[in-house]
Formats: sequence, C-alpha cells, structure tokens
Amino acid sequence: MSETYHCLHDDKKKRPSCILCSRCLEVCPLVAATGREELSPKAKFFMASKRGAGKKADLAIAHLAELCLSCGKCEKACPHNLCGPELVSELRAENPGWQEWLWKTWMTRAAVLWPLAAHSAGFLPEALTARTLPAMEKLKALADTPATPWIAVEHLDQAGAGKPAVLFSGCTGAYARKSWTRTAAALLQGLGYETSARPEFTCCGCTLGHAGAKDAQLAMQTANIKAWREAGRPLIATFCATCRCGLRSYADVNLGWNAMEREEWLAAVVPLTGLFGASRFRSLTAAPTEIFYHKPCHGAGNDRDLAFLRPVLGPRLARVVDDSCCGFGGVLQLGAPELSAQVAKHYWQRLNPPKDAALLTSCSGCVLQLTATAPAGVAVRHWLDVITVE
Ligand code: SF4
Ligand code: SF4
Repeated sequence: MSETYHCLHDDKKKRPSCILCSRCLEVCPLVAATGREELSPKAKFFMASKRGAGKKADLAIAHLAELCLSCGKCEKACPHNLCGPELVSELRAENPGWQEWLWKTWMTRAAVLWPLAAHSAGFLPEALTARTLPAMEKLKALADTPATPWIAVEHLDQAGAGKPAVLFSGCTGAYARKSWTRTAAALLQGLGYETSARPEFTCCGCTLGHAGAKDAQLAMQTANIKAWREAGRPLIATFCATCRCGLRSYADVNLGWNAMEREEWLAAVVPLTGLFGASRFRSLTAAPTEIFYHKPCHGAGNDRDLAFLRPVLGPRLARVVDDSCCGFGGVLQLGAPELSAQVAKHYWQRLNPPKDAALLTSCSGCVLQLTATAPAGVAVRHWLDVITVE
C-alpha cells in the first residue's frame, strides 16, 4: 500500500466540488483553537467558489481564505480529498503580499539569513520580540543549544553494507541546528552506508509552495533532483517530517523524470530511523520520567520515528500526541501570528504537561514552534538532540 502524503500535489488536476459535509470542521486546528467557522476548510472552499465578482471582493476572499496553517488535516478527512493547503497556495500565488515576499526571501536566502537570525535573535530586547515581532520569538529556537543525552547507541546494524546514502538536512539542520546533521551523519555512517557523496541540496521547497511562491519552489525541486541524479541516485535519509513530505511530493510534479525514475525517487527518500534495522539503543538515567511525543502533521517518517522511540523510552513515553497541530504554519507566522499563537496555546492546554516533562518530535518547524511556546520547565527536543553516538 502506498504511503499517503499531503504537501502540494499537481495543482493542474481538476478539483472536485465541496459538498459541504462539514467533516473537515472536526479536524481543522484553527477551528478547534478559535471556534471561528469562517476559518474552516469548508468556508475556504465555499468562498473560493465565489471568486470572480470583482477585484476587491476577490482580494477580500483571498485574504480570509489564506488564513491557514497548511497542516493538511482537512485533505485526509475530506471524502473528496479537497486539500486546503493547495487551495491556499493558489490564492497566495494570485494575490502575493509582503508576507509571501518576506517568506520567499527567508527561505531562498536561508544559508545567510538563518545563522544570522539564530545568533542575533537572542540579543533582541524581550519587548521587541514578544510584542512587535512575534515571529522573531521563534528565531531564538533556531539556536543550537546542547542537550544532555537520554539515549545511547548499543549496536548499529550494518545493513547499509556499503550502499550509497546521503543526508537531506533541510534548512534548519543545514544552517541552524547543525548538531542534528552531525549526529545523523554519524548514525548513517555507523550503519555501514557509503556517505562520501555531498550533493548540494537546497530547501525542499515545501513551505514555499504553501506560500504561493511556485516559481521558487519549482527551482528548488529542480535543483534537488539534479543534485540527486549527479550523486548517482543514492538513498536520501531525512530527519524532518515536513522535508520528507515535501521531497516525496516531487513525484507529483513534472521534473523531467526518466522511465521509472519517480518510483526510484519515492523509494530513495527514507526516514533515517527507517534504516536502523536491528540496531539497539538504550535510555540513559538523564532521560526525564515523563516524555511526550508530538507526531507532526506532515507525518513522522511513516511512523518509523515512533517505532524507534517506543521500545527505547518504554514507560517513560507518557503519551503520543497524534491529533494536534502545533500551529507553526510557515508563512502564517508573518501574516497572522496571533492565530499561530492561539493554536499553540490550545495545544499546550490540551496536553497539560507537568513541569519538568519533555516533549520529543521529528519536524524542524514543530521544534521551533513548540520550543517558543512551551510552558516553563517543559523541554522540547528533536529526537536527534537527545541521542549520543560514540
Ligand atoms: S490545512 Fe489545516 S489549518 Fe488549513 S484549512 Fe486544512 S485543516 Fe485547517
Ligand atoms: S470535508 Fe471536504 S467536502 Fe466536506 S465540507 Fe470539508 S472541504 Fe467540503
């Protein structure tokens, strides 16, 4: 059975009509956090169908409809697989604003801007970051902060057997949280893969698509496929759920695929944890007694990340959160940060973790959002933060 993923699909396909069944209302995190039905996927599709009544009306529709986290939960719930992020991407592409421009700049200049932001955000006055520029608060979470390890490697399976494999670190792993890339590289090498190729990957382009920056997204997709081909089509190990979702969605795009190359690409993009095979890990005494796991909206390595963590953490794994969105929302951080904050507040209220608890996840955006919004005393980590490879 093929795995589902829900980043942007081929937007030229014919979209069925919304039948107003309201199933999507139950899953939309914006509706859950705000109680505002006008933000629901149903309302978005209804309003979008009314476009064409004039420029002013169309613009108003676009601005309301594009208030979306691009979590993709609506697509999974909808009997017609109507995809909110896809619709919102179209609307943003038709009506680009300063937020879209800024997000595009932020993602296409990640190599320069991200390390700078991670370094300087911590020095900005609290009043400025918290009130005037809410999105800046997330930048502090970009900084690579060392964590005491909770998980040690006992034995690494040699299933790699010299096969070529490379890492896809994503923007966060490449430019901000570089310790994730170092640990992931040590694991990949320890698993016996041949890791000498260094393809020049760029951003996966996923959030650019959500922001309506279709040209920039296509440029990144094209560059990544070229780098993969030039490296001899190796396995691509990922450790961010959204990157992996974004990369897999390339199969729906016309990127000049050769015969069977789409299938080869889908088989090549794997979660790092999916390569662990019969490797053994153990938890260390530093591991908190109560650990939560947040499953990102864009999947979690086809649940391989959780399958890896469950036996290692045992009863310390208090709860898996697999039905709530953290509220990150990409470009929504710029356009409507108050909505993102409301969703995060709702998230933590529902989870209600005790002080000194910890939360693990496997998506770069979720790490940033949850770190910036966590209640005092609750540590948020990517699983790569807490593993030591010696
Ligand atoms: S993508 Fe998420 S936030 Fe956007 S409409 Fe769908 S369920 Fe709601
Ligand atoms: S689930 Fe799909 S068909 Fe039903 S109201 Fe929502 S968008 Fe429309």
